[in-house]
Amino acid sequence: MMQAEYDLIVVGSGPAGRRAAIQAAKFGRNALVVEKGRRVGGVSVHTGTIPSKTLRETVLNLSGWRERGFYGRAYRVKQEISSEDLRHRLLKTLDHEVEVLEHQFARNHVDTIMGEARFTDPHTVEVRSDEGERHLVSGKAFILCVGTNPFRPDSIPFDGENILDSDDVLEVNRIPRSLTVIGAGVIGVEYATIFSALDVPVTLIEPRNTMLDFIDRELIEDFIHQLRDRGIALRMGKSVERIERQDDQCVTHLEGGRVCKSDMVLFAAGREGATDSLNLDAAGLTVDHRKRLTVDPKTFQTEVPHIYAAGDVIGFPSLASTSMEQGRIAACHALGEEAQKPPEYFPYGIYAVPEISTCGMTEEEVEQRGIPYECGVARFRETSRGHIMGLDSGMMKMIFSIKTHRLLGVHIVGEGATELIHIGQAVLNLKGKLEYFVENTFNYPTLAEAYKIAALDAWNRMPRKGE
Ligand SMILES: Cc1cc2nc3c(=O)[nH]c(=O)nc-3n(C[C@H](O)[C@H](O)[C@H](O)COP(=O)(O)OP(=O)(O)OC[C@H]3O[C@@H](n4cnc5c(N)ncnc54)[C@H](O)[C@@H]3O)c2cc1C
Repeated sequence: MMQAEYDLIVVGSGPAGRRAAIQAAKFGRNALVVEKGRRVGGVSVHTGTIPSKTLRETVLNLSGWRERGFYGRAYRVKQEISSEDLRHRLLKTLDHEVEVLEHQFARNHVDTIMGEARFTDPHTVEVRSDEGERHLVSGKAFILCVGTNPFRPDSIPFDGENILDSDDVLEVNRIPRSLTVIGAGVIGVEYATIFSALDVPVTLIEPRNTMLDFIDRELIEDFIHQLRDRGIALRMGKSVERIERQDDQCVTHLEGGRVCKSDMVLFAAGREGATDSLNLDAAGLTVDHRKRLTVDPKTFQTEVPHIYAAGDVIGFPSLASTSMEQGRIAACHALGEEAQKPPEYFPYGIYAVPEISTCGMTEEEVEQRGIPYECGVARFRETSRGHIMGLDSGMMKMIFSIKTHRLLGVHIVGEGATELIHIGQAVLNLKGKLEYFVENTFNYPTLAEAYKIAALDAWNRMPRKGE
């Protein structure tokens, strides 16, 4: 039964909204989550994190990708992989995710209402359901966790069948014969490499000369080498002028006259805040050029003190993991409760094939800050686990302060990177040193041994006392 007034109204049930509402409930406050989608979960569950990661897992399993180091590039677990094969696992996973979330809300007594929220004044939203029902609800505080939509410039002739955005790509009912991906950001790179693992010829276009600028450059060089090695065509530093359909092909025209012909095009060059429907004027709020909200980075408070925003709608880093944490902190602040400060370093995970994961400072950042440092590198093929798994690629790089021996950053590209990173993250946040890795024993054979190898590599390069 919905109440007329809530301590906290959360708009959006993605990672930020879910975490904010449950935090409020844990404080014994009454919280309402408004969700305009058909089911709770947000972009994360329905069109973003979980579907793309499920697709990735299915592709890697059915294609036998992980075994190709041993059995050769032609090896496949299933010869003809259809879009049905890919969708089967997806639907099961999504059902399970939604069920878990609904149960979490019910267990914590968080009220939910399905419908679109729009402000009528700074303390009230009107919720309109698909069936046309309207409810007015008031809140002492609000957290806007409405996320983002794919950026769809008018110049791109999206048709949902051949020229797609990252939401459409999950709906197509066939696997492309060839694919052009526009935008080498996290989403573009993930989908480009997932389809390439299915042996779909892929061209990746990026208007800038670099990609994934927040990642250590040495890692990106290794990553790009791997992409080229398996035949992904990279077109860097060239903007797309137009896309047209010619016969049964998409022709992407690049600045300078080059063209890329492919069966499908995925446009993945950016996202914008899903703020259009909120009627923010009535709340006294404005948005930036990408329709995002601006907040105080410590409290997540907008310019209207009782209205907070968290998750992708406030911009970088736009990850499910960080969105959850932002939602939690925003809820604590909004309800006048003390929020434990988040640790200094959080990990980034890019689920490309191969995975990239990083935590702490890049070599470029360390240099910029003028910290004397040394690096250690380990290749996965140097570990016994790597041999057993047939890995011929994968590397870990660690950066240490020469003066204090403190770990400054860990950067991994390769199998299991997004899991492995958490060892480095713990040592970073606990202000651990090179000696930790040298002195401790790691399970054998594991990829985690790479930590020890990289640390020893750095140790060998470190100036000795008096040098
Ligand atoms: C293809 C893809 C892959 C990704 N992979 C990863 C990954 O591997 N790891 C990772 O950490 N992150 C990943 N992300 C990012 C991750 O999905 C987002 O960071 C996360 O979903 C953001 O959460 P959020 O809480 O901001 O809201 P979202 O998950 O964006 O959800 C917002 C919700 O608000 C609802 N809403 C919007 N307006 C209204 C309104 N007016 N009234 C009611 N409800 C409204 C929407 O319906 C939606 O359900 C990926 C994203 C994409 C697109």
